[in-house]
Amino acid sequence: MTEVYCGRCGRELTDGGHEDCRRALELEPPRYCAECRRRMVVQVHPLGWSARCSVHGELVSG
Ligand SMILES: [Zn+2]
Ligand SMILES: [Zn+2]
Repeated sequence: MTEVYCGRCGRELTDGGHEDCRRALELEPPRYCAECRRRMVVQVHPLGWSARCSVHGELVSG
């Protein structure tokens, strides 16, 4: 997949630094789809999380 957008802040990855975002995304699910910037439907459960884009499908932690 082609990652264009930051999963945490939703800005383009080429737009400024995302070091904090990348660090945060090691712990928390993405809020935005990296391909289309749609809001992900996030579900957190005891073993991790899943984040679903209506176009690009589901991402699962771990
Ligand atoms: Zn970011
Ligand atoms: Zn998407």
